[in-house]
Amino acid sequence: MSALALIRVALVRKGSLMAELARLFENNRKWAAAQAAEDPRYFERLAAQQTPKFLWIGCSDSRVPANKISGLEPGEVFVHRNVANLVVHTDVSCLSVLQFGIEVLKIENVIVCGHYGCGGVHAACGNRQFGLIDNWLRNIKDVYSRYRHELDKIADDLKRGERLCELNVIEQVRNVCHTTIVQNAWASGKPLAVHGLIYGVGDGLLRDLAVRITNADQIDDIYRTTSQYSYS
Ligand code: ZN
Repeated sequence: MSALALIRVALVRKGSLMAELARLFENNRKWAAAQAAEDPRYFERLAAQQTPKFLWIGCSDSRVPANKISGLEPGEVFVHRNVANLVVHTDVSCLSVLQFGIEVLKIENVIVCGHYGCGGVHAACGNRQFGLIDNWLRNIKDVYSRYRHELDKIADDLKRGERLCELNVIEQVRNVCHTTIVQNAWASGKPLAVHGLIYGVGDGLLRDLAVRITNADQIDDIYRTTSQYSYS
């Protein structure tokens, strides 16, 4: 392809990208106008404060938008998303959301929401490399390894992956509870529940995995901590 042709392709591509962006702005203007028409003080109230009742830890997958599938409005849910809804004890981003949500926003319900058909979880079931993300997916392989006795009995690859999606949620609920943030909240007498849900991208429904942790007695001894620092 000649240099001129390459420039033409690049310009067309850029024009197309700008058109996509223009669509977002147009959507935004319409949405903001509709909200203001329905409730003239809507943005004034939201700008003043947020009082979310839920902290949502979900997957980055574009098919699983927290507000939309839960029917919650802006201001009602505090959200952290990453690939495969993981709670990793060295992930400062997730821990910061957790701390801010619990200690500052005083949220009492933390939800870990996974989803069936999670690309991250299914990728972790195999041995193929995907690049940098393999280091992140390693956390899911650790979950697989923990439940190998159950998962290896499932012959169907898809079903095994879907079960791992559920088990991954259960383990991430536990990881939330293993943090000092959650344990300090419990120790101070604050009511705080951590729930595990899973979403079906094929039917749009949320399911309760019936894993609900509300106090330190429900977690393994080795992960329990006291709030007193001691180096002696
Ligand atoms: Zn996912």
